[in-house]
Amino acid sequence: MDFAPSDKVLETQSLARAFLAREVAPIEQLMAKLSWSELEARLRPVRERAKETGLFAAHMPQALGGAGLTLLEQAQLSEVLGESPLGHYAFNFAAPDVGNMELLHAFGSDAQKERWLGPLVRGEIRSTFLMTEPEHAGSNPVWMSTRAVRDGDEWVIRGHKWFATGADGAAFAVVMAVTAPEADDRYARASMFLVPTDSEGFELIRNISVMGHEGGGWASHGEVMLHGVRVPADAALGPIGGGFMLAQTRLGPGRVHHATRWIGVCRRALDMMCRYAAEREVAPAKPLATRQTVQEWIADSRAELEAARLLVLQAAWRIEQRGEFREDVSLIKFWVAGVLQRVLDRAVQTHGALGMTDDTPLAFWYSHERAARIYDGPDEVHKYVVARDMLRRYGVDLRQSK
Ligand SMILES: Cc1cc2nc3c(=O)[nH]c(=O)nc-3n(C[C@H](O)[C@H](O)[C@H](O)COP(=O)(O)OP(=O)(O)OC[C@H]3O[C@@H](n4cnc5c(N)ncnc54)[C@H](O)[C@@H]3O)c2cc1C
Repeated sequence: MDFAPSDKVLETQSLARAFLAREVAPIEQLMAKLSWSELEARLRPVRERAKETGLFAAHMPQALGGAGLTLLEQAQLSEVLGESPLGHYAFNFAAPDVGNMELLHAFGSDAQKERWLGPLVRGEIRSTFLMTEPEHAGSNPVWMSTRAVRDGDEWVIRGHKWFATGADGAAFAVVMAVTAPEADDRYARASMFLVPTDSEGFELIRNISVMGHEGGGWASHGEVMLHGVRVPADAALGPIGGGFMLAQTRLGPGRVHHATRWIGVCRRALDMMCRYAAEREVAPAKPLATRQTVQEWIADSRAELEAARLLVLQAAWRIEQRGEFREDVSLIKFWVAGVLQRVLDRAVQTHGALGMTDDTPLAFWYSHERAARIYDGPDEVHKYVVARDMLRRYGVDLRQSK
């Protein structure tokens, strides 16, 4: 494994860094003052200009308007974008659109790609992903109530979903619904559908208030009711019964995208921690940096960040080389999410009261990124996957004891 950045990666990182400093940083300063719709309006022309860098939707093939980066190259770009809370959105590399683009690219029909993928890659529309339901444990998604029933040439979908990121203003939803409730293989019971959000019976009930913020636009989490929404037979994405296979395909690289974004957040937080420790005097001519506790926070954060980064790059490399990802992806999901919490907590503490204000991005990250230990599977589930796969090599089958 060689993770030395190639010339191409260095060039993309430097282009992205310069763009973030020039175009995105001034808007980042306004985050606490503007509503999400105002922010989205300010970012619209920025996203247009981001296209000129050639790095807009960089994970998509060049033929579709992306940059055709490999997963490892994407990871190294994503670290840089993660240093700004608006970086991924500015470059059309934010969840859930990034995962929905990957799904459509891998499994969409030509007509689906033309209708949804093209506009999504060009940033003309947004999308959302509806799997989790309030009535069931999302960490065990084979258990869901949303049903899609075939009626002639159509599917009729009924269900209740929540935490649909970006549902507010999305043009379409990728909806996971049970199509074969009695199938012996419980992983063959569900399918995915592409549902326009202006379909009759598609109701966005509310933007859920999360940690005191309802958000809006791409930064919203919607509760959605599907009241017998009718879609044509060709709205199924991938094979009928293939919903979980598609979900796994989406979540593998998706967790690499999240983890690399978190690396960027940690880097910025550590940089801010060091700057503040160097500048803030806690006694005449004695900066905070002279205090051993702060030195320990800096050293621990640096070590955890470097280790987390290598773990993520190794996971991206293995996915590319071998196409396998379950265990590696579970490792990075819980490990990097934990590093993120610890580094952010130390950075906030170092800044004292300033860390609680919206004058720096730390408070935004501190509240928004707590969810990292929950979404795309909580820590406990990923630790189970790692332990299960390891113990299998020692003759223990944990699936028997579930
Ligand atoms: C900010 C945010 C964005 C999200 N975006 C989306 C989205 O766009 N689309 C979507 O469909 N969903 C989304 N989700 C939902 C997310 O994927 C689920 O919250 C997650 O899968 C956990 O499901 P749950 O909340 O129902 O928790 P539950 O499954 O009810 O679990 C509750 C807690 O129990 C514990 N637990 C669960 N299982 C085990 C186990 N096997 N062993 C030990 N402990 C366990 C964990 O600590 C867990 O936190 C989002 C969630 C958040 C917070």
